[in-house]
Amino acid sequence: MAERYKNYIGGRWIEAKSGRTFENRNPANRRDLIGLFPASGAEDVDAAVSAAKNAFAGWRLLPAPKRGEILFRVGDLLRKRKEEIARAMTREMGKILKETRGDVQEGIDTAFYAAGEGRRLFGETTPSELPDKFAMSVRLPLGVCALITPWNFPVAIPTWKLFPALLCGNTVVLKPAEDTPHSAVKLFEILEESGAPPGVANLVHGSGEIAGASLVRHPDVTLVSFTGSTAVGREIAAVCGQSLKRVALEMGGKNAQIVMEDADLRLALEGVLWGAFGTTGQRCTATSRLILHRDIRKELTEMLVARAEKIKIGDGMDETVEMGPLINEAARKKVHGYVQIGKDEGARLVAGGTIYEEGEWVHGYFYRPTIFDQVGPKMRIAQEEIFGPVLSIIEIKSFEEAVEALNATPYGLSSSIYTRDVARAFRAMRDIEAGITYVNGPTIGAEVHLPFGGVKETGNGHREAGTTVYDIFTEWKSIYIDFSGKLQKAQIDSVE
Ligand code: NAD
Repeated sequence: MAERYKNYIGGRWIEAKSGRTFENRNPANRRDLIGLFPASGAEDVDAAVSAAKNAFAGWRLLPAPKRGEILFRVGDLLRKRKEEIARAMTREMGKILKETRGDVQEGIDTAFYAAGEGRRLFGETTPSELPDKFAMSVRLPLGVCALITPWNFPVAIPTWKLFPALLCGNTVVLKPAEDTPHSAVKLFEILEESGAPPGVANLVHGSGEIAGASLVRHPDVTLVSFTGSTAVGREIAAVCGQSLKRVALEMGGKNAQIVMEDADLRLALEGVLWGAFGTTGQRCTATSRLILHRDIRKELTEMLVARAEKIKIGDGMDETVEMGPLINEAARKKVHGYVQIGKDEGARLVAGGTIYEEGEWVHGYFYRPTIFDQVGPKMRIAQEEIFGPVLSIIEIKSFEEAVEALNATPYGLSSSIYTRDVARAFRAMRDIEAGITYVNGPTIGAEVHLPFGGVKETGNGHREAGTTVYDIFTEWKSIYIDFSGKLQKAQIDSVE
């Protein structure tokens, strides 16, 4: 009998009102059924939002350092259960254990960072232009926040939103991705155990089209914080625009690594292998384009192909495996479709390009590490997000051409340059259009205490993580206190 998991609403684990469920299976072995999860409808979303709304009245008044203490406990509990959660995550979404442990670690780091912010939720004080008048600004919570998350970082991304949102005094409803509901359940078990008051954090499973869309439209939701594809983000922004809801979007990427002729090629090779094939290429910051100077293109391409063909593919639970499966059949079809598009566009396939179904792996969604050479910067495989282990190599003749090629997509999340020339490195930091630039490091590897997000169609101007996430989850209020005992008029009574 498959285990039946539940929503977490108002401090209680409950099924969807309709009783409907959906299956969650292991992408490395689809015969492995993880469990059944509630296929929630608008009525379940309504119950969760109303629990969050009721809890807001008390939670907003709990001093921020006290809210922080709960998050310290959450961090401790995550640390205790790190291995168990990492294993559940690998089983649920396929990335290798080393990476799922890193995913939980990101949640732990975020918990402790947010907890500390409880004593640092700074506003500003400033002199008034009038005598005997005091002026300051403070941060206030927004109310009920809807958090909608993707499957590729099933613990880290929800925590990036949940912990700062809660620390600021908001209450939340999380709608996790359909492919990773189990990881979200684990996270909420921890929130429950930490002593977070009922209703402060609520979990509603279900599809994006029904549960997600109902949450976005709900009139009692003040802010939507979304991470996912640009197509869905655009739809959500349009809905929020109509009702003037706050909306923070973290969306797709088409990240590139530049390698100049003066680079340490061994280092650049390790970087691109990790950036392109880590998480099976399913990171928003994955390296999807490799921009190579023509003097080193042939040599680095040969080194890369030799290594890519040796990557051990399989179930991420096996510690010797280097690359797990894709998330589902639709993702594998999409990746395979783009390989065909690349061939049709005239790019040269130099590694992979096929489904991997050897031996026991016939029951999973495996795909070989794939490399295209001779890719034009305007080809579809160089422009569109593939979200799989497919790397496109673009040849350039100069630094200027490299930056131009890197900037020539609608996205702007992460970027990287390998060079030993300091002047080039600084020009790259200035001229690359992206929210993140690495020098002599791959496009992946963000740390939780720096702002995270992208320019152009990757985002809408907000930054998660760092101190900047506190701008998403609070509203500023300016406060003036006049102790002069008379009516003073700003701009009019100012002393000449
Ligand atoms: P997705 O856009 O398909 O789904 C993301 C979430 O939105 C899921 O929970 C889904 O159920 C929900 N959703 C779908 N339709 C909805 C609707 N109409 N209304 C409300 N919610 C809806 O993305 P995905 O396939 O889960 O994740 C992969 C994408 O996420 C990639 O594009 C990747 O680049 C992006 N991503 C971005 C970042 C970042 O920080 N920029 C991080 C990770 C992933």
